[in-house]
Amino acid sequence: CGIFAYLNYLTPKSRQQVLELLLQGLKRLEYRGYDSTGVAIDGPSAGDDILLVKRTGKVKVLEDAIAEVCRGEGYSQPVDIHIGIAHTRWATHGVPSELNSHPQRSDVENSFVVVHNGIITNYKDVKTLLEKRGYVFESETDTEVIAKLVHHLWQTHPGYTFGELVEQAIQQLEGAFAIAFKSKHFPGECVASRRGSPLLVGIKAKTKLATDHVPILYAKAHRPIGLPFPVLHPGGDGTAEFQPLEHKEVEYFFASDASAVIEHTNRVIYLEDDDVAAVKRDGTLSIHRLNKSSDDPHIREIITL
Ligand code: GLU
Repeated sequence: CGIFAYLNYLTPKSRQQVLELLLQGLKRLEYRGYDSTGVAIDGPSAGDDILLVKRTGKVKVLEDAIAEVCRGEGYSQPVDIHIGIAHTRWATHGVPSELNSHPQRSDVENSFVVVHNGIITNYKDVKTLLEKRGYVFESETDTEVIAKLVHHLWQTHPGYTFGELVEQAIQQLEGAFAIAFKSKHFPGECVASRRGSPLLVGIKAKTKLATDHVPILYAKAHRPIGLPFPVLHPGGDGTAEFQPLEHKEVEYFFASDASAVIEHTNRVIYLEDDDVAAVKRDGTLSIHRLNKSSDDPHIREIITL
C-alpha cells in the first residue's frame, strides 16, 4: 500500500543507514494502512545476492528482524552507491504472509526484485505465459508476475537497459501500479514507474540543481504490444542522457507520498501514468515514455514543496 525506495549516489552511506532511511520512509507511509512490510538491499559482501527481509505485521516487527539479520561489519561500512527498496503491503491477492510480502522476486537468486502498490488485473494471463516459459511461481500475489516478466524480457532481449526492460514490461500489464525495481544485473540502478497509483521522485543534492525540469525521452516508434510477448525494438529519440545536477553527489527517493520524503528534500517530481523513471549508474535520472501524446508537456517539472 506504500512504496519507498532510496538511492545514494556518491554520498557514502552504510547499509545500516540505508535501512534506517527505508524504515523511516515506511513509518511515514504507515497511515495508508498495511498488513505486512519488507525491504531489499545489497548483501554485505561483493558478489552477494540481494538480501530480502520481509515480515507480516507492523514496521516495528520488520525493524526488529532487520536488527537481527543485518548485523556485522558489512552493514556498517559506508558504500558510495546503494539502492534500497521498501514496501508496506495491503494484501489484495494472497493472504498476508512472508512469502506474499514484497519485494517479490524473479528467481531464487533475487535477480530482479520489485515492490508494487496496486493491482495487476491481467496477472493470470501473464502468469500462464511465463509458466509456459518455465517460470515457477512461489507466491499468490499478482505482483510476482512483474518481477518474472522483467527477468524474461532481460533474458530474451540482451542489450536492453534496465529502464527499457521495465518500459517493455509495463506494456504487458493491465491494472494499477506504482513499482520500484532493483536488480543484481544492474547494480547502482533503480527504475520506477506508475499507472493509476501515486509515485513521486524526491531529489536531494548538496548543491543547486542545474535545472528545474527533466525532459521526457520518448521511444522512437510505437512498438508492437500485447500478449504473447512481442518482438521489441529498443531505442529512444533522446540520445543524450540527462544530467540534472551540476555537481554529482545526489540522493534519490521514490515514494507513494510526499510525506515520506519531505524530511529529506522539498524538491520532487510527480510522475505521470506510464512514465518510467530510471537512475543509472552514473547518477543521472531520466524519464522515459513509450508514446508521445499531443497534450504532454514533454518535461517533468522539479517542484519545490
Ligand atoms: N496487489 C499486490 C498484493 O496483493 C499489492 C497490494 C498493495 O498495494 O499493497 O500483493
